[in-house]
Amino acid sequence: MLTGILLTHEHSDHIKGIKVLAAKLGIPIYCNQWTLEAVKAQAQCQFDARIFQTGHSFKVGDVDVDSFSIPHDACDPVGFVVHTEGGKIGFLTDLGHVTRLVIDRVKDVRVLVLETNYDQKLLQEAKRPESIKQRIRSRHGHLSNDAAAEAMEAMVSDHLEHVLLAHLSRDCNSPELARRVVGERLRDIGGTHLNLISTQQDHPCATLPLAPAQVSCSWPGNAVRR
Ligand SMILES: [Zn+2]
Ligand SMILES: [Zn+2]
Repeated sequence: MLTGILLTHEHSDHIKGIKVLAAKLGIPIYCNQWTLEAVKAQAQCQFDARIFQTGHSFKVGDVDVDSFSIPHDACDPVGFVVHTEGGKIGFLTDLGHVTRLVIDRVKDVRVLVLETNYDQKLLQEAKRPESIKQRIRSRHGHLSNDAAAEAMEAMVSDHLEHVLLAHLSRDCNSPELARRVVGERLRDIGGTHLNLISTQQDHPCATLPLAPAQVSCSWPGNAVRR
């Protein structure tokens, strides 16, 4: 059962449906104060907001959630780690680069949702204003497929089993391309045991059942499944 909505930041692609969704489901939205102010200024909507402090943990029902800062051009953007009985789930989208803090916070997750926003060549060729392209590529913009692949090298661990590639640009990326780029890098570093899933904007991915975590394999490892 859905008991809350976690809001990472106030950009329109994240809050467009928030008022309707929260009202329809009758559940609170969890965000920090700066994000709440920014949402109110843009959307002029009322909802049941539960405020957390960036860098702190809080509860949604009986689930613990950690929040941490990420580099993105919003008021106070965050990533999340959700603690479940089946292990930890890291949520990392809308970040221009991967910081030490980010790596440290997601280093022992079982599931990682990771941004692969754009392919560098497709962005270069896209019919978009140069200023927008620069914003996307900046250190407070978004992660490219290559940047995400590089970040994966630091994020593969004994605990990690599933990686969901997310927040793909419709015109500057494709699920196949993102999966290929990250998959090739994982192969290079012996990370073929990971379940790599590319998500889509308009199509839900399959439900990921998470039974309680069992004995972990030793990383680096090859083709080891738990
Ligand atoms: Zn954003
Ligand atoms: Zn976004």
